[in-house]
Amino acid sequence: MCSRCGAVAEGPQLTWTCSVENGIRRYFCDDCARANLRAIEGRLDSPWW
Ligand SMILES: [Zn+2]
Repeated sequence: MCSRCGAVAEGPQLTWTCSVENGIRRYFCDDCARANLRAIEGRLDSPWW
């Protein structure tokens, strides 16, 4: 399930983005990963998510 919009993955989450924050694994669907690409790549904490 997407950590941002709550979308449920259809099949394997091969295209989803996995981000580990504080030991918690978060998954983001394509749309959300794209929207948060800069934040994810910058490895920023995301209290605002
Ligand atoms: Zn999403």
